[in-house]
Amino acid sequence: MKTKYIIAILLTLLFVAGCQTNDETELNDQPSEPAQESSEDAEKDVEEVDSEEETKDMEVEDSDETKEEDETKEEASDIEEQKQKQTPKYKMNDLFGFDPIDDAEEQVVLMTIDDAPDQNAVEMAEILTEMNVPAIFFVNGHFIESEEEKKALKQIHDMGFAIGNHTYDHKNLKELTEEEQREQIVPLSDEIEKIIGERPIFFRAPHGANTDYAKELVKEEGMLLMNWSFGYDFKADYMDKEALTTIMLETELLGNGSNLLMHDREWTKEALPDIITGLRDKGFGFIDPSEIQTKDS
Ligand SMILES: [Zn+2]
Repeated sequence: MKTKYIIAILLTLLFVAGCQTNDETELNDQPSEPAQESSEDAEKDVEEVDSEEETKDMEVEDSDETKEEDETKEEASDIEEQKQKQTPKYKMNDLFGFDPIDDAEEQVVLMTIDDAPDQNAVEMAEILTEMNVPAIFFVNGHFIESEEEKKALKQIHDMGFAIGNHTYDHKNLKELTEEEQREQIVPLSDEIEKIIGERPIFFRAPHGANTDYAKELVKEEGMLLMNWSFGYDFKADYMDKEALTTIMLETELLGNGSNLLMHDREWTKEALPDIITGLRDKGFGFIDPSEIQTKDS
């Protein structure tokens, strides 16, 4: 509503001020352009005519201009965010891979980085960002205790990556009492929320060791529990850039919707660009975690 109102005022201004007709044409020709672009363009024109006396009685006040522009942007990104949440494109299957919903692209994989943010996560996030690849970083509580570590988590989140809960101390949940399992999961979500402003919506158990209790708890906490399709960087044979790149690209487990497990490790960081390039060469795209259905439909 507000956007339409602003555009209406600005269009009126353009007519009153007798601006060039090509400005009007530009606006009229692109009704489907994002509102913020149109209103920004129009606002430039408003600034030009503002110095003229005849616009004084118009309802657009100089001091409100920036605020209104910000609000318009905020509104637009909120709508975009909501739209994505309302229309998930991928649903996780029983093997923790992803099936497309409707006509979503089939040949895609999900990138996940566990045991973050240790020594390499920020750099890995930078590589992913540079190569335009979304991912989930699964975080442990013992890695976000110092101010520096908290900052690293915030930085990764601010770069646009999804943050997942990987338990506080990386213990095997099957060896813990129910109360101990809860202590590994809920306080970590609280802590993550304190740092990034939102609770994680993805959960992965250390070693993929899930208990019935943890599954139920994770669901109550509004998180989607996932293991993975394949991963190799924790095995001695693949703690090396070349060996890891080769296996990640050549494994017969790689297929449409695969859920790729990687870790915050130096050799994985080194292999990451080649793994991404190799996947793209094979025709794979990457699932944006925000496109994953997290609630039962
Ligand atoms: Zn782990």
